[in-house]
Amino acid sequence: MKELVKEFSWSKSRDIVFRECARKYYFNYYGSWGGWKFDAPERTRQIYMLKQLKNRYMWIGEVVHSCVERGLVNIYRGAALPDIEEVIRLARKVMKEGFLSSRRKRYLSKPRTCALFEHEYNIDIGEEEWERLFDYAEKCLRNFYASSCYQELSSLPQEHWLEIEQFSHFWLDKVKIYVTLDFACRKGKEVFIYDWKTGRGGNTESDNIQLACYALYAMEKWKVSTADIRTIEYNLARDEMCEFPVDGEIIKGVREYIKESVSSMKAILRDETRNQAVETDFPKTGNKNICMQCNFKKVCTAANNEVQSPSAAKPGKPRTLSLFKL
Ligand code: SF4
Repeated sequence: MKELVKEFSWSKSRDIVFRECARKYYFNYYGSWGGWKFDAPERTRQIYMLKQLKNRYMWIGEVVHSCVERGLVNIYRGAALPDIEEVIRLARKVMKEGFLSSRRKRYLSKPRTCALFEHEYNIDIGEEEWERLFDYAEKCLRNFYASSCYQELSSLPQEHWLEIEQFSHFWLDKVKIYVTLDFACRKGKEVFIYDWKTGRGGNTESDNIQLACYALYAMEKWKVSTADIRTIEYNLARDEMCEFPVDGEIIKGVREYIKESVSSMKAILRDETRNQAVETDFPKTGNKNICMQCNFKKVCTAANNEVQSPSAAKPGKPRTLSLFKL
């Protein structure tokens, strides 16, 4: 089998981690590398496992995204329009199975299965909170399937569909830039790019940079001008659509932004050409709030970088839950 190469690349999510804490960035993109191998050092395996953790909000967002994606893919393949009650039933089933698998800490032996931050760090948030989150996911899905956006997309001719949640990339100054567009299609000569949001917050500057990256990708991939690109953020929780304008200035700005971010990331590497990094070169943030929510706090604060025993070695006593409405 071909050996995976740890090549340098850029993405908005990578940039976010780098800005939060350089040490966290190191753990995510360097310290975890190779942790999937059976003969990897114990600390590397642990960092790789911690990298997979998602907090409850991220997890719920991912479940909603994948339900929307599955629905759209089915429409694209010519299947009948999904019944919303069946969509909700499946989403709740996925959440229940993921929750139980994570609570049993199955991710310790199967790192790609559902791994929740709250379980790894033994944060008891209470049954009502989990129930509230599952209801929240249901609300997002009901909003989406009842929306005019969905009605319009589901009647779009197949040849107008461009991408659905595809892990893609483009190049900028010989650096691979990764993007995943939630949905893209053509309407006339225009390319529409949709971004589904599940958080309660409004549109942020970071979101706008992400949308501008998508526009840059669309220009390269589908050879369209900025005048023919429409980037739309649809907040599923609030059932609100918001269009982000794209023009030459914004594209120039995002190119500069990426170049500066790439240059800061490369400057901290021990060997830029071989993309090699040394943990102690990456300073830790002084922001305790970021540390509180960091996947890697277990390895980061371990004295002398020794590996702490995963809490998972002592799984908590399973509780009987009544929260899943199946
Ligand atoms: S625990 Fe804090 S300092 Fe350590 S990697 Fe995480 S965010 Fe950075």
